[in-house]
Amino acid sequence: MAVFSPMPGCVAGASCCIVCSFAPPLPTPSVRVSVSVLVVGTVAFDSIETPFGAVDQVLGGSATYIALAARYFTRPVRLVGVVGGDFPEAYVDVLRQDGVDLDGLQVEPAGRTFAWKGRYHYDLNQRDTLATDLNVLESFDPVLPEAYRDSRVVCLGNLDPAIQQRVLDQVERPDLVVCDTMNFWIEHTPDSLRDTLRRVDCLIINDAEARELSGEANLVRAARLIREMGPEILIVKKGEHGALLFANGTVFSAPAYPLEDIHDPTGAGDTFAGGFVGYLARAGSFEADVLRQAVVYGSAMASFCVERFGPERLIGLTRDEVDRRAEAFRELAHIPALAPLV
Ligand code: AMP
Repeated sequence: MAVFSPMPGCVAGASCCIVCSFAPPLPTPSVRVSVSVLVVGTVAFDSIETPFGAVDQVLGGSATYIALAARYFTRPVRLVGVVGGDFPEAYVDVLRQDGVDLDGLQVEPAGRTFAWKGRYHYDLNQRDTLATDLNVLESFDPVLPEAYRDSRVVCLGNLDPAIQQRVLDQVERPDLVVCDTMNFWIEHTPDSLRDTLRRVDCLIINDAEARELSGEANLVRAARLIREMGPEILIVKKGEHGALLFANGTVFSAPAYPLEDIHDPTGAGDTFAGGFVGYLARAGSFEADVLRQAVVYGSAMASFCVERFGPERLIGLTRDEVDRRAEAFRELAHIPALAPLV
C-alpha cells in the first residue's frame, strides 16, 4: 500500500482528509466485469466548510465522485477529465486504486487544477459557493482514447453542455446516456443544454433545477415538460427527502436514509449518479424494476458519501456494507398491506 503525505492546508492526521485517512483497497474484489461505463466531469480540489469542520484542497469533482461510486458495481469505469500539473500523484492513486481507468484523464503540466470552494449552512441543504476557479477547465477539449469509444453506458457529469456533447460525438452508439447538470448551465447556456438533452436518455437533477429548467413549479408537470425535451427517464433529487424516478409513465419515490451523522453533503448527487449508472451497467438492463433498484443503490452510495468530508467514505467500502445499506433502504420504504375502511 502506498504511503501518502497530507496536502498543504490539511490538518495532518485528521480523519477528515482522504490522504490522511486513506484506506486499503477493497478486500472483496467481487465486482462483475460487465458493461463499460464512461464518466466525464470535473476532477477538482475542493475546499469545504460545514458546521462540523473544514477541509482545504481535498480531492473532489463530479467525475471523481461518480467514478468512485460506479466502480463498486462494474468495470471498467473510464474517466474523462482534465487536471493541472499541480494535481498530486497521491490523488491519482486514490482514483486508480481498485478500478478507475484514467487513460482519459488529461494532464496540463503548465495549468492549475479546477478548484471549488463551498460553505454549508446549519441546514445542510443550503450551500454558498465561495469560489469556482475553472483553471484548466476553461480550455478543456475532451479527446477520448480509442478504447473508450465503445463504452456502453455514458455518464455526463456536471459540465458545460458543449463539452458533454463533444464527448457524445466520440462514443459509438451507447446503450444509455445519463446526464447531470446544474442551475449555472440552465441559466447561462440554455440552448446548448437543450441540445445535450435531446441526446440524453436519463437526466438527474434536483427539485429546484427541475422547476427552473421547466419553468413549472409543480414537479409532476415539470417532469412531463423535461421529458418532452429528450430524456425518457428523469430523476429528481430532493436532498434529505429522497428522490423521484419518472419513467415508463410511472413515478417511483425512494426515501433518503435518516443518518445521525452527516458531515459533508458535497458530491452526494454525483455519488448517487455513480451508484445509479454502475448498478444499471452491472444489471445490463434498463427495465422498470432495475431502474428502481438502481435508484436505491444510488441513494445508498450517496448516504455513505455524506458521512465524511470529501470522498473519503467511498474508499474501502465492502460489497457487504453496500448491500446492507441498500437493504436498509428497502425496509425503510416498506408499507404493510393496507386494511380497507369498508
Ligand atoms: P454536488 O455536491 O453534487 O453538487 O457536487 C460537488 C462537486 O461538484 C464538487 O466536488 C465540485 O468540485 C464540483 N463542482 C462544483 N462546481 C462545479 C461546476 N460549475 N462544474 C462542475 N463541477 C463543479
